[in-house]
Amino acid sequence: MNLRKCVSCGKRSDKFDFIRINRIKNKDSSFTICVSNIGNRRYVEGRTAYLCSDLSCFNLAKKKSRLEKNLKCKIGPKVYDEIESFINKI
Ligand SMILES: [Zn+2]
Repeated sequence: MNLRKCVSCGKRSDKFDFIRINRIKNKDSSFTICVSNIGNRRYVEGRTAYLCSDLSCFNLAKKKSRLEKNLKCKIGPKVYDEIESFINKI
C-alpha cells in the first residue's frame, strides 16, 4: 500500500484519506497553490503536500507553517482561506 503522511500531525494513511495541496510553477516562476481531493484521481504536476481533511490539523499546519516548509514557497492568507473552505465542504 502506498502510504502518505499528513504534514501537520504526521499520521500515515492511504492517500485517499487526505486532501492534497499542490504547488504548481507558473511561467514567471511564481507558484500557484491548488487544493484538491484525491478522489477525483486527477494527476497534478509539481510538489505535493498531504493534509488530513480536519480543521484542527489544518490550523496546526497553518500556525507552524508546515505547508510552506513542505512546499518550499510562501502561502498567503487567501490560499489558507481556500484550503479552509475546501475542508469545510468535505
Ligand atoms: Zn493530520
